[in-house]
Amino acid sequence: MKTLELRLGDDGVALIHIDLVDRPMNVLTPELVEDLAAAVEEVAAAPGITGVILASAKPGAFVAGADIKGMLALLDAGPVPAAQGVALGEAFGRLTRRMEACGKPFVAALEGPALGGGFELALACHRRVMADQPKAVVGLPEVGLGLLPAGGGTQRLPRLIGIEKALGLLLTGRHVKAAEALKLGIVHELVPAGDTVAAARRWLLAQPRAVQPWDDKGFRIPGGAGPTAPHASRSFTAGTTLLAGQTQRNLPAPLAILSCVYEGTQLPLDVGLRVERKYFGRLLADPVARNLMRTLFLNKGRIDKLANRPVGVPPSKVARLGVLGAGMMGAGIAHVAAGVGIEVVLLDSTLAQAERGKAHAARQLDKAVERGRTTREQADAVLARIRPATDHASLAGCDFVIEAVFENRDIKAQVTRQACAAMAATAIFGSNTSTLPITGLAQAFERPEDFIGVHFFSPVERMPLIELIVGEQTSPRTLARAMDLAAQLRKTPIVVNDRRGFFTSRVFGTFIKEGIAMLQEGVAPALIENAARQAGMPVGPLAVIDEVSLDITLKVYEQWRADGVQPPHEPVLSIDATRKMVDQLGRRGKAAGAGFYEYPEGGRKFLWPGLSEHWPVAAQQPSVDHLGRRFLTIQALEGARCMEEEVVRDPADADVGSILGIGYPAWTGGVLSYIETVGLARFVADAQEMARLHGPRYQPSPWLVERALRNAPFYPPMG
Ligand code: NAD
Repeated sequence: MKTLELRLGDDGVALIHIDLVDRPMNVLTPELVEDLAAAVEEVAAAPGITGVILASAKPGAFVAGADIKGMLALLDAGPVPAAQGVALGEAFGRLTRRMEACGKPFVAALEGPALGGGFELALACHRRVMADQPKAVVGLPEVGLGLLPAGGGTQRLPRLIGIEKALGLLLTGRHVKAAEALKLGIVHELVPAGDTVAAARRWLLAQPRAVQPWDDKGFRIPGGAGPTAPHASRSFTAGTTLLAGQTQRNLPAPLAILSCVYEGTQLPLDVGLRVERKYFGRLLADPVARNLMRTLFLNKGRIDKLANRPVGVPPSKVARLGVLGAGMMGAGIAHVAAGVGIEVVLLDSTLAQAERGKAHAARQLDKAVERGRTTREQADAVLARIRPATDHASLAGCDFVIEAVFENRDIKAQVTRQACAAMAATAIFGSNTSTLPITGLAQAFERPEDFIGVHFFSPVERMPLIELIVGEQTSPRTLARAMDLAAQLRKTPIVVNDRRGFFTSRVFGTFIKEGIAMLQEGVAPALIENAARQAGMPVGPLAVIDEVSLDITLKVYEQWRADGVQPPHEPVLSIDATRKMVDQLGRRGKAAGAGFYEYPEGGRKFLWPGLSEHWPVAAQQPSVDHLGRRFLTIQALEGARCMEEEVVRDPADADVGSILGIGYPAWTGGVLSYIETVGLARFVADAQEMARLHGPRYQPSPWLVERALRNAPFYPPMG
């Protein structure tokens, strides 16, 4: 497959146009590396050529990064030995070194994203010219994939801009826009979009030196390197602090990046590049990289390609959305929809309440303007699309209506009937209920086949997931249209069957309850909270219940009981503790000012010291590691039960849903991927041991045990 075109110009300038013909975006594939290496040799040997421009033939893009699909296919084919990872990096390493040391000057012309391997190619050029336009960005995002830049990124960037600034980019993986790239000294020149090749040519014709700073005699890294350079050692302290502040701690990639930079910058570049490849090999052999890449790939597939969308339904777009209830969720939904250009009718019982929902959007938009994320004009246009209302007749022109009124069956039934009478016969109705079965709610709608659960998460603006709940009568057409709406809102849809707790609440429920079970076992509350965070959960279980409120937690379980539904895991333990907190101790959660935590006015919350009087702390405490594994295991077991009971059909929905909806740690790849990462047999054995120690809720189901015996993974290999 063709990856580039080489043109040798009469003026002595060669142009290498990168263009992967079978891809919408240029990515760094092994074929591209091979073709580039051949092109570099050709220009190096061409007598009339005095300089080379590296550019992209795709308008507005340079090279957007690694070939994630290709890497996944490789990783899914079996564990990659570290040595293979090293070998993979070697060809790219030879190419970049040859570019900078072949004696002819290279210039990178960056019109669009130059990320990961694309940016490393540019770093190996003697000059970088960047288009001054928003879509032109540079960066090394590998850390987010559990990897490190193995084409010299960890070695050249610190040598170019100093260790401290380089670590800031390497450890966060953030994208840098043109103005900042110039200021940081990453690029040499900004020019208007479309002018980069011409600017590169001008520089080459002025007969520049073809030597990189680090190949010059007497080169020193800006700010110094090694333990004796005070500035550099401060940088590493800053780097370590940055890691400690991140939600996902103890991940292999950031630590490997720190080590690479620390070791490599004290050595000559060529040796530093070998150090980098050694660490890359180790990361590639670690399942964390595969899990992070798979999640990214699956998530993108859900938004861009609408995986699992029913076939044969023509694509749809919502022009006008009705939102019933302008409370916390309704206001957020209205804001997000208006933000992507949808006209919104925001309806509540009184105009004042509907206006309050619009005011929420206005506040968020003001903040966005203050922070420079949008302009005043754009913000005003978004706000103008939200029309507060009280009269159901205003829903007549809506092609989709979402209900987000109080979580009460009767109230929901009433608004559903009113809306149904006013809506067009082709319009779809979605309920944002978090707990009530969709099939039951659909009875209030005259066309239950056009009714679906559309479960957003709070805060709507920030949470990327939508759980689509298919009721018994929901039609494939309705599901397809709800998926289209999710994609229009730039959210990730997962498809869930109408079972109690749906998917995310059911899995998350086990996390919360496990926290309370630990409290009752005598585990110190601070240890519970820390262990959850160390395992990678964003917030501890006790803090979460406080946020949700203990009242609501109790109400949900009472509703389950009233409906004759038995939660699939021991409910009694934690329900009793929650009831005691509410009924006897009067501690209802954060909103009430007192829960598992104390909330001093103007101060930081802290765990309520009184907890130990009611749940004495045992003399012997378990390890953080064991507690962390309990949190991950109990949720993974529930995720597996959801597969077994066909609450979710596609393992990717379970995995993506658990990461985006409830903050299950991304390094695991999600609840099911965690089981595969541990290994099915080992996971089952560990769970059985936990069942012996902590109770039958850990007992893996016969279905899972049988799967483990067959070693049948949830996913077929990807490729
Ligand atoms: P909320 O109390 O903030 O808002 C509910 C709104 O509905 C209020 O503005 C109320 O005035 C309005 N309302 C009540 N009866 C009405 C009627 N007859 N007609 C029109 N409007 C009426 O509640 P919320 O937190 O936004 O939750 C709304 C729904 O979303 C619930 O079903 C809830 O379970 C679900 N949900 C909530 C969350 C969350 O984190 N809060 C997350 C997902 C789903």
